[in-house]
Amino acid sequence: MVWPIIGYRMCSLLRSKVQSMGSFIHREPVWCLPFSGLTSTSVVSSRTRPLTKVMSWTKPYCGHAATSSFKEQQPEDSSNCHRLSPENKDLDVGNMAETDGNQDLFDLMKKRFLSFKKHAYIKELEHFQALAEAQSPKFLVIACADSRVCPSNILGFQPGDAFMIRNIANLIPAMKNGPSECNAALEFAVTTLQVENIFVIGHSRCAGIETLMNMQDVQSRNFIHKWVANGEVAKLRTKAATAHLSFDQQCRFCEKESINQSLVNMLSYPWIEDRVRRELLSLHGGYYNFKNCSFEKWTLDFKECNVTEEGRSYAVKEQEFWG
Ligand SMILES: [Zn+2]
Repeated sequence: MVWPIIGYRMCSLLRSKVQSMGSFIHREPVWCLPFSGLTSTSVVSSRTRPLTKVMSWTKPYCGHAATSSFKEQQPEDSSNCHRLSPENKDLDVGNMAETDGNQDLFDLMKKRFLSFKKHAYIKELEHFQALAEAQSPKFLVIACADSRVCPSNILGFQPGDAFMIRNIANLIPAMKNGPSECNAALEFAVTTLQVENIFVIGHSRCAGIETLMNMQDVQSRNFIHKWVANGEVAKLRTKAATAHLSFDQQCRFCEKESINQSLVNMLSYPWIEDRVRRELLSLHGGYYNFKNCSFEKWTLDFKECNVTEEGRSYAVKEQEFWG
């Protein structure tokens, strides 16, 4: 993604319409590298918002998505993949990928549920009973439906922490695209729950983004095609900025660019734009790379954004790299 990783100084140069943005990027490919060009100086410190209470029963995400190349880089006791402590090792009750037959799958699910009840619900009874009455999540999270990237696993969201939307390629359509289950959930989270943060989380090797990038016919009636077409602007920006890169590199680029398109699209909803303007709501982007188990986080800099009928530009701030 181009725009988020450039220094703040560069943002003013990019405050232009889509077309001119593309041509600028094309001339200066060094700025196009999506986060892969991050240096220690471009990464903001570890100033991170502490996650809300992480209960002891949380089973860390470790394993299936790790590639051989990643494993080769990590020592056996890698801190990237926490071991279960003795007190909760009975949570390690099995692996669905290694389970045959539906009955076994549901048996495993039952064990996990009873483990949750024993180690979380009963231990934190007061907390869970309060949650039974009402929710007041700090976050609305929009993440891909991909089975490998559950935000509760990788970022430790606990019951009550985050209202969550998951869809193909973690896309937020612009308001003009009409109603969908996505913007219905968006409206509920913002106007009723009054969340303080919206966090759009993308990921590496996203099949939805690959479909978008491969799609030739924007008029296709295929449901998947019609959905991912919500990312068409990100695709056009990507194509304009990365014509010299391989298709795989273009997809990595678009995975991040589409997150920013979704952040900007959210400003087309007046009840979001108003709360962002009054600093009651912040819009964040995140990118999970499960090939090397790293995470990038940034925040849309609303004051530096310029979204009009004629064009749109945006800037980001508070970039962090966790890995
Ligand atoms: Zn995906």
